[in-house]
Amino acid sequence: MEKKTGGIVYECVRCGAKVPSEELELRGGEIKCIVCGYRVLKKIRPPVVKRASAK
Ligand SMILES: [Zn+2]
Repeated sequence: MEKKTGGIVYECVRCGAKVPSEELELRGGEIKCIVCGYRVLKKIRPPVVKRASAK
């Protein structure tokens, strides 16, 4: 069973908290740090662990 997520994570430029976009949607869709309330977040991508077919 796969969970569909955008996989977008924001990082607060002030406190460095990682805020998943889902979390923002739950809180009204506003781009805002859930820890300190700062409104400048940069979009980052969570490290995707891909299984490279090592031979
Ligand atoms: Zn913050």
